[in-house]
Amino acid sequence: MKLSRRIENLPPYLFVEISRKIAEKKAKGEDVISFGIGDPDIPTPRHIIDRLVEAARDPANHRYPETEGLPGLRQAIARWYQKRFGVSLDAGSEVLPLIGSKEGIAHIALCLIDPGDTALVPDPAYPVYSVSTMLAGGEPYYMPLTAENGFLPDLEAVPEPVLKKAKLLWVSYPNNPTGAVADPGFFQRIVEFARRYDLAVCHDGPYSEVAYDGYQPVSFMQADGAREVGVEFPSLSKSYNMTGWRIGMAVGNARMLNALKRVKSNLDSGVPQAIQYAAIEALSGPQDCIKEHNTIYQKRRDLVVKTLNDIGLEVTPPRAGLYIWAGVPEGYSSAGFAAELLEEVGVVVTPGVGYGKSGEGYVRLSLTTPDAELAEGLSRIARWHTTHQPK
Ligand SMILES: *Cc1c(COP(=O)(O)O)cnc(C)c1O
Repeated sequence: MKLSRRIENLPPYLFVEISRKIAEKKAKGEDVISFGIGDPDIPTPRHIIDRLVEAARDPANHRYPETEGLPGLRQAIARWYQKRFGVSLDAGSEVLPLIGSKEGIAHIALCLIDPGDTALVPDPAYPVYSVSTMLAGGEPYYMPLTAENGFLPDLEAVPEPVLKKAKLLWVSYPNNPTGAVADPGFFQRIVEFARRYDLAVCHDGPYSEVAYDGYQPVSFMQADGAREVGVEFPSLSKSYNMTGWRIGMAVGNARMLNALKRVKSNLDSGVPQAIQYAAIEALSGPQDCIKEHNTIYQKRRDLVVKTLNDIGLEVTPPRAGLYIWAGVPEGYSSAGFAAELLEEVGVVVTPGVGYGKSGEGYVRLSLTTPDAELAEGLSRIARWHTTHQPK
């Protein structure tokens, strides 16, 4: 049997490798504390689960769903946008539920990228933007995100010939892995840039509700003209601790969403309806859980930042998102530092280079580790430091 070149050339998904290493350690009887994957440890709020269970008992929800989702869910998403961002969306044409936003992020490449086309992709970034581009036969052009630029892409630095070929521009704020946030002016510049070079914009925004110190992230859809050039991918995964249920959405440009719906109707059969009812409950029900979760993450953020600063690592406390993006100690590569922490004190951090070349020099720590484990992990990192004092 011969597998396709597209599969042969595909790098393994970052966290598959990390999970394998953790399993190896655990098999040897060593306990490992993971600051690896960003997957909320807190359960889905009770009222959402109650709605899910109730909906699961209704035989009407045992049958195939429609690709475009229940009208009630599309309306709930539109209402949530109005309330949260002051943006009016047409629930019929500007909203599309997804089987987790990762699904739509991957499939949208098939709507925009032909073999040989270019997508502009931030570096470091969530790996799906570049992988989906490659699966569609296209090529990612990487835009470095650096501390000097506040981890925002320098659009003017992209060479003119690349821009002529580029069809799609990926951005994502609050950002994974760097923790950076964007202001409305940035999104307005993105719209203008997209118009100038006839680019479609995809804004990945699963962390819009995970924020600290009273900060409220903005939506790409708030920029004038955003819906003429692009779509945004919010998600329920991180805001409502629903990663396991697989529910997300795309909103914005009707033509792009219609194309995505065409791909999806041929490849999948939509979001299971009981889960759609749970999503309606999440978006329309009481919102106290968001504040509660953010309070927990903010405490963890402060503990992690303090420990890392105490051992001399450079970290800026993020205003949003689930990650601490920390510079590695001098003399270490990001992979080397991550390997040493795992080897010597059984702590998993994600090497920044796993998110792209410009992630070199950093590691990412996720705040989705339960409090007691987090404390133990941090004391292990401090212990690692005391045994590695410069001589
Ligand atoms: C978690 C995450 C997603 C995926 O969310 P799902 O809705 O669970 O698929 C997308 N983008 C980024 C940057 C993420 O961190």
